[in-house]
Amino acid sequence: MTAKLIKGTDIREEILAEIRAEVEKIKKERGVVPGLVTILVGMNPASVSYVTAKIETAKSLGFHEVQDSQPPDLSEKDLLALIEKYNKDDTIHGILVQLPLPKGVNEKKVLNAIDPDKDVDGFHPVNVGRLMIGGSEVKFPPCTPAGIQEMIVRAGVETNGAEVVVVGRSNIVGKPIANMMLQKGKGANSTVTIVHTATKDLASHCRRADILIVAAGVPDLVKPQWIKPGACVIDVGVNRVGEKVSEKTGKKVAILKGDVDFDAAKEIAGYITPVPGGVGPMTITMLMKNTLSSLKHKLGIA
Ligand code: NAP
Repeated sequence: MTAKLIKGTDIREEILAEIRAEVEKIKKERGVVPGLVTILVGMNPASVSYVTAKIETAKSLGFHEVQDSQPPDLSEKDLLALIEKYNKDDTIHGILVQLPLPKGVNEKKVLNAIDPDKDVDGFHPVNVGRLMIGGSEVKFPPCTPAGIQEMIVRAGVETNGAEVVVVGRSNIVGKPIANMMLQKGKGANSTVTIVHTATKDLASHCRRADILIVAAGVPDLVKPQWIKPGACVIDVGVNRVGEKVSEKTGKKVAILKGDVDFDAAKEIAGYITPVPGGVGPMTITMLMKNTLSSLKHKLGIA
């Protein structure tokens, strides 16, 4: 293997330790801690597992954490009223509504009801606009793209003037990370290209990339001959390609694969993220960072 492995699992621990230290300092000096509420409607098993991971992480950091579990038949009106209650609650700095919501509830309407200054997921149109403007306007960069940028920066990869190619243009990964990398400033200032299913020659674009960010959701889409020797390859894809029995628990678990042919790519790239253990662990970490950042904005110390 020639590429340096960028491990999200290690970077996560670094960032969580930094957050924990800041939380302790603010608590000591100002007597407050970041507050995060997670609203879960119904008991979708995948949602329960995501919410549990978020709550456990928030608790481990000393946050004020509220888990608000609601029945599956909660009306849209009652959900909007609940959001309004947390919008007004001074002890809450971040509001998360776990998706998907039950049928009949308008997700867009619900997410747009969250106070943009408590929208720690960064998906409210106000925060999308702030991200587009960049600089000090940005309050909550969306968590997965923010995690990707942290990984690139902490690995010591030069972004200034770098050719960045992003495969995928979703609102949660492709578009925001492309936007973040083109901003003028540290950890960005790159020349950015976004490619998608209508792109004529995907391979030639990828081959130009000093930093290749792949978020397509297609296992092994990126072939080793598409990678520029020495490039930094960030594989966001998480694809379930089968099942296996876990050696630890004896239970069936999913076999996960990224969007990049990892075994071949690691012989050509300079840096590469694994799947699992790469970008995945960064998302909840950055959610915690955004919640702390929300409190710091409120205190005027951001
Ligand atoms: P998405 O909404 O399905 O978007 C996929 C994008 O990739 C689309 O823009 C699509 O192009 C493009 N694309 C798909 N196949 C392509 C191909 N053959 N050639 C070129 N472009 C192609 O997916 P997403 O939500 O961004 O997620 C992407 C992947 O990242 C998924 O595997 C997801 O599970 C993973 N993910 C991981 C994390 C995490 O680790 N924390 C977070 C979010 C997502 P069109 O627009 O032309 O259709």
